[in-house]
Amino acid sequence: MLELLAREAPAYGLRLTDVQLDLFQQYHNMLVDWSSRMNLVGDTDVEVVQRRHFLESLALGAALREREILRPETRVLDIGAGAGFPGLPLKIAWPAIELTLLEATAKKTAFLQAVVDKLGLSDTRVITGRAETAAHDPALREHFDLVLARAVAPLPALVELGLPFARVGGRLITPKGSRADAEVVEAAGALRTLGGRAFVVPFEVPGPVQKLIAVLKQASTPSEYPRRPGVPAKSPLS
Ligand code: SAH
Repeated sequence: MLELLAREAPAYGLRLTDVQLDLFQQYHNMLVDWSSRMNLVGDTDVEVVQRRHFLESLALGAALREREILRPETRVLDIGAGAGFPGLPLKIAWPAIELTLLEATAKKTAFLQAVVDKLGLSDTRVITGRAETAAHDPALREHFDLVLARAVAPLPALVELGLPFARVGGRLITPKGSRADAEVVEAAGALRTLGGRAFVVPFEVPGPVQKLIAVLKQASTPSEYPRRPGVPAKSPLS
């Protein structure tokens, strides 16, 4: 049934097995089922989900894999995972990664945990909470090789929410549209304070042109960051 996914994944260098396609099918079925009770993705149309969520997440994964940023056993954190994007498609396609999904809304984490259980995904944990709080947990702080976030916050706030979770030498990566370069300029202060250096790279997606902002963590994040819940977005570091 997920023909578009099966047909277009090879364009990103991905050959999905029947087992993986079946996992995507089960995930889609659960999205449709749970969406009758809560708002998860807006539009659950099968074409839209395959293109905007499954393929776009896989395109991001393929770009990271190609650059050897995503490898077996990479410790990945997805902040504000929502209904699981981009984290869960990455885990289905590259099952050896270690995945943590962080999401503030308990209803959404209930969905995420149900998907993880139903699909039998190993080394995958779901945490309900805000990044501002979770980043001060010693078990999570500076623990991850790769921190991902899609459609969560503008870069100046996102750097404060995400970089504390990355180990020194690790990266915070977010897909952005045409404003990527402008956001990097706006985030100069946050990057300086939090020890990050940003690069913008184009990447191929099934839709409008997108770019990836990759922030390399060069120094340990001062312990006072992130500030209290809501503050990074309301008063971004300048
Ligand atoms: N990444 C998903 C969802 C984007 S919507 C996707 O691309 O489809 C943004 C999500 O981030 C929402 O589910 C919201 O609850 C969550 N979120 C926003 N700020 C957050 C924070 N500070 N900590 C954790 N989750 C957050």
